[in-house]
Amino acid sequence: MTDRYAVFGNPVAHSLSPAIHAAFARQTGQDLAYEAILAPRDGFAAALRAFAAAGGSGANVTLPFKEEAWRLADARSARAEAARAVNTLRFDAAGLFGDNTDGAGLIADLCRNLGFDLSGRSVLLLGAGGAARGALLPLLDQSPARLAIANRNAQRAAALAAEFSARLPAKGRVRLDACGLDALGAEAFDLVIDATSAGLAGAPPVLPGGLFSRDSLAYAMIYGQPAEAFLAFARAHGAARCADGLGMLVEQAAESFHLWRGVRPETASVIERLRERSA
Ligand code: NDP
Repeated sequence: MTDRYAVFGNPVAHSLSPAIHAAFARQTGQDLAYEAILAPRDGFAAALRAFAAAGGSGANVTLPFKEEAWRLADARSARAEAARAVNTLRFDAAGLFGDNTDGAGLIADLCRNLGFDLSGRSVLLLGAGGAARGALLPLLDQSPARLAIANRNAQRAAALAAEFSARLPAKGRVRLDACGLDALGAEAFDLVIDATSAGLAGAPPVLPGGLFSRDSLAYAMIYGQPAEAFLAFARAHGAARCADGLGMLVEQAAESFHLWRGVRPETASVIERLRERSA
């Protein structure tokens, strides 16, 4: 019998996840169906329960339900606990198992697809929302020398840095600090990650120009047109390389697929096909 999966979100019509998982299933010979389900903003839990009762095997969760999915999960992975958000649910006999594959997707895209070695490098993470929180532990695990969090609301950035400094004593050699976007100075970073949602409104976060050196990689977690404003700014201010988050999206999906099916799909051809489709 064909196993059923779905991505829950609101809105969700734009989601590339059904196309990505269909490509993974074809490639690996897995018998599964994957659909997008628009859940009412106050009706995620009911929609999820209905899907599970109808025989669903697992789900992806996107905005705005990741925190609610974390609360609904009966058991969670360590990375979901650190992120306090769940983007992947597996429906087990014992209940809902919640995982967060976003950070692993980011690291796979940075390290494997883009060949960027984070060890000993300086990283600026823009944003202090769910995406930034989910990225922190996986980034710290790569042993950068410095990780600065900068957010429009400086207090949120400071709270995030304080929480992760306190929880990760083993990562003491990483210099982890935080500031407001308006306090960023002329210091250049090896990697600047835009984990804000500013691009969705068509404008990049307001930044000083000196953040990028001739070796810097500028990375936008969003992909396609909404990523362009930040990446154009980075290019204009000297970033050596720019990448959007399409690779991260496919890599986090591959990690979900692995959790559900025990099989790791090949991702490069899927990323390439999606890029061609959106060109
Ligand atoms: P949240 O709503 O949790 O957080 C939004 C963040 O953006 C906050 O830090 C907020 O700052 C900041 N922000 C919003 N508008 C502006 C602005 N105009 N200028 C500066 N900062 C701003 O969203 P998420 O963290 O969940 O998602 C962030 C982005 O990451 C989204 O665009 C999402 O699509 C993308 N993403 C991509 C993934 C992928 O697979 N490629 C996976 C997950 C997320 P403040 O605190 O001051 O309000």
